[in-house]
Amino acid sequence: MSRKDDLAANLRAVRERIAKACEAAGRSPGEVTLIAVTKTFPASDVRLLAELGVTDVAENRDQEAAPKAAECHDLGVTWHFVGQLQTNKARSVVSYSDVIHSVDRARLATALSRAAVGAERPLRCLIQVSLDEAEGRGGADPEEVRPLADAISAADGLELGGVMAVAPLGADPVPAFERLAQISHSLCASYPSAKTVSAGMSADMEQAIAAGATHVRVGTALLGGRRAIVR
Ligand SMILES: *Cc1c(COP(=O)(O)O)cnc(C)c1O
Repeated sequence: MSRKDDLAANLRAVRERIAKACEAAGRSPGEVTLIAVTKTFPASDVRLLAELGVTDVAENRDQEAAPKAAECHDLGVTWHFVGQLQTNKARSVVSYSDVIHSVDRARLATALSRAAVGAERPLRCLIQVSLDEAEGRGGADPEEVRPLADAISAADGLELGGVMAVAPLGADPVPAFERLAQISHSLCASYPSAKTVSAGMSADMEQAIAAGATHVRVGTALLGGRRAIVR
């Protein structure tokens, strides 16, 4: 089998999982956007996925994403950035990203705003929420979401898109996704257009869709296992 056949089979299986989960939740599959997380995989895979109909891709490290996005600039896919982000990388990340899922502090929003204005590129921002108080994985505490939303929506060049979370490691994801849904619900009361709920990965997309995810971020189930990266 060629790499393209492999990816096509994986994509069919993932789309099937999404469709089943939507059906079980009484939702339409059109409500859930599949984002292919292509980190550690080459630009040639992004190209094949785009040929197979994938419209959204995500990366988590600027160093790797910047050259990959440049190589794929002709594909017309939407680029998502889902990794922890340092303010000094804002300019680079904004040059190729359409959506940032990992905005978790006001200082980062300020840096992204400046970069988006400079690049004359509107930038959609999701607030990453920390649901397990785990240090080191990023995310704002739930009580910080509202002030951060106010800061993003007031900032030039930024558009508040919604919320994102990663389920706690080694725990039942359901309570975390339900908590995220509540946070999204109260955010939408003030910001009705901030409807995006980015949640669910290869292992837990069904639970995330049941809890209302609008975007699932899928790596392994589409592209295969990643080699450990030494940082
Ligand atoms: C790597 C990554 C994913 C994809 O994870 P898989 O388990 O491979 O599907 C999703 N979200 C974020 C933030 C990631 O870093």
